[in-house]
Amino acid sequence: MRALVWFSQDLRVFDNPTLNKAHSAADSVLHVAFLGDLLRPSSMPGLKGVSSNRKQFLYDAIASLKAQLELNGHSLLVINGRACDELGGLIANYSIDAVFAAQQAAFDETQLWAFFDKAYKQVNFHLVSSNTLFEEQTLPFSVAEMPKQFTPFRKKLELSKILPREQKRAIPWSDAINFQDPRIATQINSLATPNRLSGGELAAVAHLNAYFNSKAPQTYKKTRNALQGFDSSTKFSPWLAQGSLSAISIVDALREYERKHGANESTYWIFFELLWREFFFWSARQTGEKLFWKKGRRATAPLTSFYPERFQAWVNGSTPWPLVNACMNELAETGFLSNRGRQVVASCLVNELQLDWRYGAAYFEQQLIDYDAASNWGNWQYLAGIGADPRGQRQFNIQKQTDMYDPSGEYIRLWHGADSLQNVDSRDAADWPILPTKLDAVTRFGPLE
Ligand SMILES: Cc1cc2nc3c(=O)[nH]c(=O)nc-3n(C[C@H](O)[C@H](O)[C@H](O)COP(=O)(O)OP(=O)(O)OC[C@H]3O[C@@H](n4cnc5c(N)ncnc54)[C@H](O)[C@@H]3O)c2cc1C
Repeated sequence: MRALVWFSQDLRVFDNPTLNKAHSAADSVLHVAFLGDLLRPSSMPGLKGVSSNRKQFLYDAIASLKAQLELNGHSLLVINGRACDELGGLIANYSIDAVFAAQQAAFDETQLWAFFDKAYKQVNFHLVSSNTLFEEQTLPFSVAEMPKQFTPFRKKLELSKILPREQKRAIPWSDAINFQDPRIATQINSLATPNRLSGGELAAVAHLNAYFNSKAPQTYKKTRNALQGFDSSTKFSPWLAQGSLSAISIVDALREYERKHGANESTYWIFFELLWREFFFWSARQTGEKLFWKKGRRATAPLTSFYPERFQAWVNGSTPWPLVNACMNELAETGFLSNRGRQVVASCLVNELQLDWRYGAAYFEQQLIDYDAASNWGNWQYLAGIGADPRGQRQFNIQKQTDMYDPSGEYIRLWHGADSLQNVDSRDAADWPILPTKLDAVTRFGPLE
């Protein structure tokens, strides 16, 4: 049997059930990645596509996957186009009998898969659970009937005591990556540098090891909301988003850490946050195309619109709020932003600037090195009040957030948040009596240079 493995958000060889299944079923396997899908630009008008940070992180991941496959005697076919245009040709040219791919969350990918399954009757299409902690068939509810909010979702999962996939059938690291191989050991060591966010599986392993060899997990719950600091949160998301690291590998390392150093509220909270990721994954499968609708799954859409001038000010970090500007500057420069920073700028876009939340989500899609459709659009919906939040729209008081998370203005100075302060816009400036003036910000955060 000849199989094709279609890599998507599972760019790794270790703990990759898609790869394992294809190799155990087939005599020969063609490994393919479609760059056109992995770097698909956002469909929102006016946005440029994919940032250079996100591109670079993905290229690192592809290069690393290629190298790992080659070390195992295989190759990777990297195609510039999209699967919808190219897969049919590959099936015909290589006489493919079966296609294996990781189950994904978002609507387009699900639709495309259903299309191929229907169109190529002679080919067996296998979707494999590779990105999540739990497999669909082991969830204590059907996806259609899963709780629409996080807390009941989490409680049902925790009460059911179902185990994450890997804990049931452990695969030793060395099955896929030979950690004794000096070429690999040297690469991992050279990547294990704090603050370095390189893409790819080896960098992911290096970071996983470094994080759980540090004391950071002991205090995660206290530090996770910080605006800066490499160890304040785990920073696993960029590798998780591309699948260079599996969520199961993180939970395994976490359990190992707890065995050695003891479990506490902070170590539990790392798992808790991974359940948020899990929630958004299954929720996206449940919501389908509504994940991208302005009204989400509600009956009516928020009363927001699109004002290009305001949106540009938000993107450029030139709003009247130094904290928002600092966050937007960090995002543009690095492709990463803390969870707190994301919440503050998203709330600003929706509540202060009264912009259609989808433009904010699409800009994040363009910029984030950890862009993940389910987590990104799900979190934006949550903040815009048309998603999974029972409390409706959330508004963060920007001044309060600044006082709590950047009391000395260090973060704002680092990311030049007070350098380009501007009023919201000329049209209805009179409607914004509470805006801080440029002078207030200078007094508070020091000279602009
Ligand atoms: C508006 C907005 C957009 C976001 N877009 C994305 C996105 O595109 N991709 C993405 O991975 N996360 C997204 N998040 C969630 C969260 O901000 C990031 O996962 C987190 O900041 C990544 O840093 P970390 O790995 O250090 O997280 P940690 O705090 O260390 O958390 C550990 C892991 O738990 C998961 N996690 C934590 N919080 C969330 C959450 N709220 N939703 C889903 N998973 C979570 C992530 O996988 C994360 O790596 C978004 C949040 C907001 C408010």
